[in-house]
Amino acid sequence: MAKLVAPDKGVSGVDVDLANGKKRSYDIAKDGTITVDNPRDAAQLKREGFFEAAGASFGHVEGYPCVGCGFDSVFKAYDCPKCGVKNDHRG
Ligand SMILES: [Zn+2]
Repeated sequence: MAKLVAPDKGVSGVDVDLANGKKRSYDIAKDGTITVDNPRDAAQLKREGFFEAAGASFGHVEGYPCVGCGFDSVFKAYDCPKCGVKNDHRG
């Protein structure tokens, strides 16, 4: 089970495309997170910009701050969902 954080707090739900052509809808909680049981769904959501919440200590993310706006990501390399800057902290 994964707890994911929406890249955009303005959205209230998201659809995941299933292999059979259907969609599964997830509601986004008021705190901007969604809980996903299906690892495949979680993987797709991550590709769409969602990122994993750091458990109970979400207020303090041990992440990789965006070089453009300071947004904390758990990924080393990512396109910032807030300002669009490409970050690569791998080097
Ligand atoms: Zn940014």
